[in-house]
Amino acid sequence: MSKFVFVTGGVSSSLGKGLTASSLGRLLKARGLRITMCKLDPYINVDPGTMNPGEHGEVFVTEDGGETDLDLGHYERFIDYNLNRNSNTTTGSIYSSVIAKERRGDYLGRTVQVIPHVTDEIKERIRRLASEDLDVVIVEIGGTVGDIEIVPFIEAIRQFRRDVGKENVCYIHLTLVPYLAPSGEQKTKPTQHSVTELRSRGIQPDVIVCRSDRFIDPDLKRKISVLCDVPIEGVASAADAASIYEIPRVLFEEGLDEYVCRSLGINPDDHLINLDGWLELIAKVESATIPVRIGIVGKYVDMSDAYLSVVEATRHAGFHHGAKIEFVWIDAEMVPHEVTEESFRHLDGMIIPGGFGERGVEGMVAAARIARELQLPCLGICLGLQVMCIEYARDVAGLEGANSREFNSTAPHPVIDLMDDQVGVVDKGGTMRLGAQAAMLRPGSQVAKIYGSELVSERHRHRYEFNPRYRARLEDAGLCCSGNSPDGRLVEFIELPGHPFWVGTQAHPEFKSRPDRAHPLFRELVGAALARSEDRDPHLIDPGSIR
Ligand code: GLN
Repeated sequence: MSKFVFVTGGVSSSLGKGLTASSLGRLLKARGLRITMCKLDPYINVDPGTMNPGEHGEVFVTEDGGETDLDLGHYERFIDYNLNRNSNTTTGSIYSSVIAKERRGDYLGRTVQVIPHVTDEIKERIRRLASEDLDVVIVEIGGTVGDIEIVPFIEAIRQFRRDVGKENVCYIHLTLVPYLAPSGEQKTKPTQHSVTELRSRGIQPDVIVCRSDRFIDPDLKRKISVLCDVPIEGVASAADAASIYEIPRVLFEEGLDEYVCRSLGINPDDHLINLDGWLELIAKVESATIPVRIGIVGKYVDMSDAYLSVVEATRHAGFHHGAKIEFVWIDAEMVPHEVTEESFRHLDGMIIPGGFGERGVEGMVAAARIARELQLPCLGICLGLQVMCIEYARDVAGLEGANSREFNSTAPHPVIDLMDDQVGVVDKGGTMRLGAQAAMLRPGSQVAKIYGSELVSERHRHRYEFNPRYRARLEDAGLCCSGNSPDGRLVEFIELPGHPFWVGTQAHPEFKSRPDRAHPLFRELVGAALARSEDRDPHLIDPGSIR
């Protein structure tokens, strides 16, 4: 039977609960335990697919087409395991099923209430993740204890321990231990308050992970141990790390995985850890120092979590090449007037990431043209491919006013359009082409060489497609449609012969990159950027935009 670890957070959001949970997942996996992970999100959206990435961060897409919280991306990258749509549950999806059951008459005669109906549904979702083939299920609860929306989730996981037995559940609570510069002290009070809040809901944590900007010393750990009633071995210090990929090592050194095993009745000596692979990765991360400057031309440039998987996939490619990526965030709305062609000369490569809606699109089209003309390596992802096609149609194939029907419903040349079977679909939730889709690559093409295969599969999330009516026009003008759906209907990849790297994909390759196995397209983009960096002008117009 599977055992369960529940990870809650207190004091503040953005403490890195997802990374802590992922790192623990990695450590347990390195002990040979079979694990899976899940995130429970207390917001009311049925899934994050309809949220603004500028506020909530990216939507992570699973193989089976689930539109999920970005923490699932961390989980997949750390535990190197594909999750699915059931790995993320929200209040909205819980209520949808409870209300559907009520309408069906499943609760006839009864008053439907948060306890037990909503909490039972939450517990059922957690229980469904368990299986004979899994030793541990790690469940992260989004939000912070004390939030109004989180209460049913905390109640459900409290009951869960009674349902499955004390020895099968471990509660981990993540808190903040701030450092106050004027007194030169680290403070435990917020941790105490947060644990008190959790206890008031009936949960006594087994483990406290303390986030701080520096390590906390044994005296302070002792204090937390006494005040929060957790054995000192159960108090782990998680100080800020130079790279997120170092966190598993930090938590291993704190003995977190060993303690969690013991508290679940798993003898750690029967599951000795082998961290060699991960330590090799950390060595690579630390030695990746050659600066490579990659521009990201998007509309959420102030919120890099909106492009989290793109950023991580680019970093992975950097680890592969020994390169440290300097990201230059380019607000698409500023191109080409405020951010001119001149600025692009200071880049080694660029990415046009995915997106929805018209804002910034003309700037992305201009950026695609500049990259083509400057021979600047450029990877277009989903919307990125679409703007590259629009650019090529307008500027090379002479199709004036070419556009996507998403941005101009009366465009004279809709080179990007809905496929006939999609026309008329109005529901904005879950009507997209989602999840893993196969593509056949043209033999001998750049992408076929990069992937080392002619049949590939990538995750998708979009409505619009390359319009097949324009394929011949664009190909006659020199564009190569180098990958198609297996039935030949849809264009999946484009490239430009003679350009070092001007490649677009209708998919989202970033979701499949792993820190120790960079995705081929990102690997090649960064490789081409690295080659260019040697003769790039070392000056940058706006160093403030590098992060
Ligand atoms: N907005 C475009 C579409 O719906 C691209 C989507 C994306 O980049 N994920 O097709």
